[in-house]
Amino acid sequence: MHSMIVPMGQHQLPKLAYAYNALEPVISSRLLQIHHDLHHKAYVEGLNKAELKLSEARRKRDFSLIKHWERELAFHGSGHILHSIYWTSMAPLGNRWETPGAQTIKHIMSYFDSLAIFGEQFTEAAINVEASGWALLVWQPAWGRLEILTIEKHQDLFQAGGIPILVLDVWEHAYYLDYQNKRKDYVTAWWQLVNWQDVERRLMLAMQAQMPLS
Ligand code: MN
Repeated sequence: MHSMIVPMGQHQLPKLAYAYNALEPVISSRLLQIHHDLHHKAYVEGLNKAELKLSEARRKRDFSLIKHWERELAFHGSGHILHSIYWTSMAPLGNRWETPGAQTIKHIMSYFDSLAIFGEQFTEAAINVEASGWALLVWQPAWGRLEILTIEKHQDLFQAGGIPILVLDVWEHAYYLDYQNKRKDYVTAWWQLVNWQDVERRLMLAMQAQMPLS
């Protein structure tokens, strides 16, 4: 099995698997709609544009704006991927596993020692992201275990090769409408929405990846 191939410049905004109001009261309908329909859409469009501009640059053999378009490719490409995972990282009450799956628990325990300590590090990492960014649980195929990482913007500070399996958006656009400047309240409430079934699914797929260092 391999991933779906997306033709150049043809990325699409994925549909949400739940209604806009499905994550209330943690995330309001209005916030979710703006976040998905406007913010995420802009990253999809930015990614498509960067790919097409780079294609044009190759055709014309004019790389004078290469620094700009490579940056756009990274920013919007990561923005699109992270938002897509973010939507599936959450699910409405009653429609998701309330606790981590067997593989998730096993790997969290073996690296973080306990679920509580894992949760505490993830929460603190998210709260302390400077300005706009993300907290992520990733599977690092280069050393065959989990890692908690943070990202500034959509791409800075990431560890190459890591495969995100649980992500939390801490850009102000992800919470300001509902929580104003109280990021900690948003992060704390967000745990109620975590879709552990999706985390388990992503972990099982990520564990199949190979990242040889020699
Ligand atoms: Mn966002």
